[in-house]
Amino acid sequence: MVVGIHRPTQAIVNTQAIYHNVASEVALLDKHTELFAVVKANGYGHGAVKVAEVARKAGAKGFCVATLDEAIELREAGVVEPILILSVVSTLNIPLLLAYDLSVAVATQEWLVTASEVLSELEEKKPLKLHIKVDTGMGRIGFRSPVEVLEAVQWIEDHKPMMWEGLFTHFSTADEADDTYYHKQSKRFDEVLEVLPQLPRYVHVSNTATSLWHKKYKGNMVRFGIGIYGLNPSGKALEETYELQPALSLVSELIQVKLVPKGESIGYGATYTTTTDEWIGTIPIGYADGWIRKLQGFELLVNGKRCPIVGRVCMDQLMIRLPEEVPLNTLVTLVGKNGEEQNSLQDVADYVESIHYEVVCLLSERVPRIYI
Ligand SMILES: *Cc1c(COP(=O)(O)O)cnc(C)c1O
Repeated sequence: MVVGIHRPTQAIVNTQAIYHNVASEVALLDKHTELFAVVKANGYGHGAVKVAEVARKAGAKGFCVATLDEAIELREAGVVEPILILSVVSTLNIPLLLAYDLSVAVATQEWLVTASEVLSELEEKKPLKLHIKVDTGMGRIGFRSPVEVLEAVQWIEDHKPMMWEGLFTHFSTADEADDTYYHKQSKRFDEVLEVLPQLPRYVHVSNTATSLWHKKYKGNMVRFGIGIYGLNPSGKALEETYELQPALSLVSELIQVKLVPKGESIGYGATYTTTTDEWIGTIPIGYADGWIRKLQGFELLVNGKRCPIVGRVCMDQLMIRLPEEVPLNTLVTLVGKNGEEQNSLQDVADYVESIHYEVVCLLSERVPRIYI
């Protein structure tokens, strides 16, 4: 998809907010613990390369991504710090992992066996850096028992150039007030630690929520994700322990303003009919930009006033009801501050009954990211 650089719809990313969020977290870590900035999914929609640059300046010592391609994007952009791919990569791609010096999660013994076959056929003797993933209750990827982990460690030791670089797990409820399940998972991770004769370079258990609300838990690296972007991982369930500054706002402009007589309909399906003569404004953003149809009725901000989306959201445009006549090209704020009013990504998420993680990831490539 081409980027709409000639259209007034823009996602504005405040790099100072990103810097503030990362630096605040780094300041709270003990001196043995490193922050790896999670910039998967194009930096949660904020732009992976740019976020990585700012995070590095703020003290990040490495990066986490979800896919091999995301890792390669960072390397191609000149990132030299450690990069960990959090998910499973096909063993067919081991040559790329080596060529780009990437670390990868390992979740099954089968993968290790196939990987050692692939490695034995390569000339290349650079280390294949592996982070053993322990599934302590997320049920997604990872070894499920201490015995399996021990077996994996042994296999890695016996199959150079495999290198055991990390051990990690992921909590499924660290962002909830009830920490019963969190403790069940941490206990399982402790049981793995107990059987291991030694530990690798990195042991890491913390995403943003774990780091914010379960500070004392072990590890020497944190995988700091949503906090970078200034968003509270719990939504509204738990208080932030330091100020997170939201980095992203979303703006556009009115491209048409008209007085529509009473009794006329707006949009596909004619689902909205004016009840009096109404000022209707059109904005160039739609579901192809990630502004989904479920947002019909959500209020956008114009001149500090709340203006509901009327009629269905189209692919590329939507209509709002204005309280009065407003000049063409007037700024419209979808997310962010406008006068005294404000919409947060959390407000959008609440409206569509989702989470801000999803809302921000959905912003499509067509929306240019502008850094200030
Ligand atoms: C995405 C992800 C993170 C980051 O989580 P946040 O809630 O954004 O901090 C950490 N670890 C793993 C395994 C992940 O997939």
